[in-house]
Amino acid sequence: MQGDIDRVLISREQIAQRVRGLADEIAAVYADDAAGLVIVPILAGSLIFCADLIRCLPFKMRIALMTISSYRDKTTVGATPQVVHDLTADIRGRHVLVVDDILDTGNTLGLVMRDLARRQPASLRMCVLLRKKGKAPPSLKADFVGFDIEDVFVVGYGLDYDNHYRNAPDIGVLRPELYA
Ligand code: 5GP
Ligand code: MG
Repeated sequence: MQGDIDRVLISREQIAQRVRGLADEIAAVYADDAAGLVIVPILAGSLIFCADLIRCLPFKMRIALMTISSYRDKTTVGATPQVVHDLTADIRGRHVLVVDDILDTGNTLGLVMRDLARRQPASLRMCVLLRKKGKAPPSLKADFVGFDIEDVFVVGYGLDYDNHYRNAPDIGVLRPELYA
């Protein structure tokens, strides 16, 4: 697997350090209303990021899972996202933090945020590990961002290509000949 990576963009050490920093930022913002916080990891991409992030958070929380498919086995962009598994908990009146791997065009998180806002949470914020800056509409702002990256297709640390490479510890760019 490691031999399939052309170059590492963000190393596991850089990720670990930034995840701790993000947790500090999140803890500061929710200092007064962490009680009843619901974390919504968007599966499957945020699996590893969210697992690391929430273990750095110093307060109690609940988790409500949501699975979105953008139907992209490959690297194509612009597919219409769909809710594959709906939220596993009621969020009305709760503080809600959505956690995802990457904000690219914003199609996916746009759908998620509109959908969750309709359920009348007390507050609704978004945390992404990666952002391809300037691609999502200005109205869709991430409250917490791990790294701004260049507009390249990345894998690892939860991010996949054809559902592979999610377990790669670093975030990197695949060797071009591996893209079908
Ligand atoms: P958006 O809907 O914002 O265009 O893209 C969000 C979703 O597309 C992400 O949750 C992720 O599943 C996928 N995606 C976007 N850019 C990348 C990328 O560079 N690498 C991988 N592996 N997935 C991406
Ligand atoms: Mg995703």
